[in-house]
Amino acid sequence: MIIAIDGPAASGKGTLARLLAEHYGLRHLDTGVIYRAVAKAVLDAGLDLTDEAAAVQAARGLDPATFGDVALKSQAMGSAASVVSAIPSVRRALVEFQRQFAAAPPGAVLDGRDIGTVICPDAEVKIFVVADPVVRARRRTLEARSRGEAADEAVILADILARDARDQSRTVAPLKPADDAHLLDNSQLDIEGGVRAAIAIVEAVRAGRSRS
Ligand code: C5P
Repeated sequence: MIIAIDGPAASGKGTLARLLAEHYGLRHLDTGVIYRAVAKAVLDAGLDLTDEAAAVQAARGLDPATFGDVALKSQAMGSAASVVSAIPSVRRALVEFQRQFAAAPPGAVLDGRDIGTVICPDAEVKIFVVADPVVRARRRTLEARSRGEAADEAVILADILARDARDQSRTVAPLKPADDAHLLDNSQLDIEGGVRAAIAIVEAVRAGRSRS
């Protein structure tokens, strides 16, 4: 089974994806990390994030062993990722890696922005997670502070809104729900409630399939 989870920054989709994967015994790929790793490679080389050749080279040389690097988690790296991710040739260079990950047995949960629309359009279950931007900013602020980063909630909210706008308006693979995605509003749910809601969606889709 492949489960596609998409949604905006800090909507809680990553945590949901990880816990859903655990629940169903599937592998999990946080695809945001891939774009963050590409952005970091470009910055580490002292180059500009809009340098297409450098970003494509970083995408082709992607090393999954670096995905656990804590430096990838910062708010700044998320914003940097949204700049390189708008370059069409960078996205193209990363498609195959993601599809191969999804296709390997026993299946996977992938979370990102274009999983249900571009990477895995045939995923059995597609969930689009939304949450109020103010709630998302609050969560990101608490996360950043727990990592010891100084975090200003108003700045994070502005960054989240700017990132939403960039991700939604880019020409290639913009952030939007697939036509057959199920909407999950995570604004008022805690982690356990979100996971329960996601499992209910998966089970309803499976039950519908087995009836037809
Ligand atoms: O999800 P996360 O905040 O880690 O993603 C960082 C950035 O990477 C996003 O703002 C988005 O621009 C980009 N991204 C993307 N497609 C994905 C995952 C992330 O464009 N599948």
